[in-house]
Amino acid sequence: MTSAFDTNRTKAEGYLARFRDKPLGHFIDGRPVAGAPAALFDNLSPIDGGVINKVAAGTAADVDAAARAAQAAFPAWAALPGDKRRAILHRIADLIVARGEEIALVESMDTGQPIRFMSKAAERGAENFRFYADRAPEAGNGLSLPAKEHLNYTVRQPIGPVAVITPWNTPFMLSTWKIAPALAAGCTVVHKPAEWSPLTAMLLAEIMTEAGVPAGVVNLVNGLGEEAGKTLTEHPAIKAVAFVGESSTGGHIMAQGAPTLKRVHFELGGKNPVIVFDDADLDRALDAVVFMIYSLNGQRCTSSSRLLVQRGVHDAFVARLAERVTRIRVGHPLDPQTEVGPLIHRRHLDKVLGYCGIARSDGAEVRVGGVRAEEMGDEGNYVRPTLFTGADSRMRIAQEEIFGPVLTVIPFDDEAEAVRIANDVQYGLAGYIWTGDVGRANRVALALEAGMVWVNSENNRHLPTPFGGTKASGIGRDGGDYSFDFYMETKNICVALGTHAIPKLGV
Ligand code: NAD
Repeated sequence: MTSAFDTNRTKAEGYLARFRDKPLGHFIDGRPVAGAPAALFDNLSPIDGGVINKVAAGTAADVDAAARAAQAAFPAWAALPGDKRRAILHRIADLIVARGEEIALVESMDTGQPIRFMSKAAERGAENFRFYADRAPEAGNGLSLPAKEHLNYTVRQPIGPVAVITPWNTPFMLSTWKIAPALAAGCTVVHKPAEWSPLTAMLLAEIMTEAGVPAGVVNLVNGLGEEAGKTLTEHPAIKAVAFVGESSTGGHIMAQGAPTLKRVHFELGGKNPVIVFDDADLDRALDAVVFMIYSLNGQRCTSSSRLLVQRGVHDAFVARLAERVTRIRVGHPLDPQTEVGPLIHRRHLDKVLGYCGIARSDGAEVRVGGVRAEEMGDEGNYVRPTLFTGADSRMRIAQEEIFGPVLTVIPFDDEAEAVRIANDVQYGLAGYIWTGDVGRANRVALALEAGMVWVNSENNRHLPTPFGGTKASGIGRDGGDYSFDFYMETKNICVALGTHAIPKLGV
């Protein structure tokens, strides 16, 4: 009997065949283009290190063509009534669902993320479009601000063509999270996906075109960050940059966009704490702790990569945790049983494993893992889920974003120490609190330097809520109406009631 794993592999090869045949180019002004003659780069498989396909490294000329197409398409798209935009965005969601299996399998092969998570990521991509489809008709609404002799009202209008620059960890979902609100607002888009995971962005461009998005409204330029990405952030036709990636890249983009006064929205790195107090429901806390760092290969911005455990329960909790981590199933990303797949790239694997040496030399213990998953062979980027214990907050494993299936455990004595350690990093994206004391839950939630806090829960997203980080983790919020604050300009219109005295000069 054919297993689900075999079926997935056969289907994935079928979906990948088109990419293997010819270099992946760009999608500009409604059609695929090879782009200006340029160097090609290899897109490598996380599974075996082989070349999946060749990708065109977009040039300044390609970026310019895409930005001009977005600029030309902007007036008509911005003027399209909201209900028409709503219908198109719902069609995009329908087509994502229809091609959901293809998206999930291609993304899994491209990124190494287990198929169990990528199927959900494709569904979430469709939900993102549905959510913003329904908000499109009201996106322009503002406030009525009456004064004594004037009536003020505000309206929101799309800012113009925007750049969307995305990373490699969950590329399809993250692209939809940016592009859906931009289109709902009436903006046009130039998307630059990550060079390590370029495939599903092309599927999304095709889907949007088939759904009726007019030519030029969404454009895609593949290429390297320092070339195509940089040129895009400097282009005068681009009014704003929505960026998801590393904090240091955010700094570069801010500088690159400064001469043309770009508005920026940054979703950056994290070193998120999960705090387990001794009065917590420890069974539920354990499930959440394991899920929030070892799902999605730990390549997740909101992963809780620092576990702060109160000393009274520390040893028993960590012993149970270590047992669970040892049992996590590492395997081929298309195997439905797999819980952790190969990391995205050999360079990233080396970085993640490098932290084991750093942990030891700083005096921590590598309690579980810290080595490659040898049963998976040498060619893929497989690593054993890793647990560092006996750490303190000043160690590099407690300060730096590792972005892999690696958890650092730090003990604490009381609430004040927990908050001090939690805030003792440059990042401030998310925080997780486990306690049975509702007063303490709220005190700690208010004290955490983070854009998002979950109490007695793993990361559970509700799309109307704000998503984003503080400190080095970001600028701005996505979600609900917050996204429209970024993709739109608020205009105030002041109308006199005809009764006020106008100052008279030269009378
Ligand atoms: P990265 O910063 O290296 O690259 C992200 C994107 O930026 C890529 O498309 C890249 O080509 C482009 N880029 C690189 N240099 C550029 C430049 N000078 N100008 C313009 N574009 C440039 O990030 P990554 O390694 O792909 O992704 C991992 C990072 O993303 C982690 O730090 C992770 O925490 C972060 N992330 C954050 C969130 C969030 O919501 N806060 C979500 C997912 C990932």
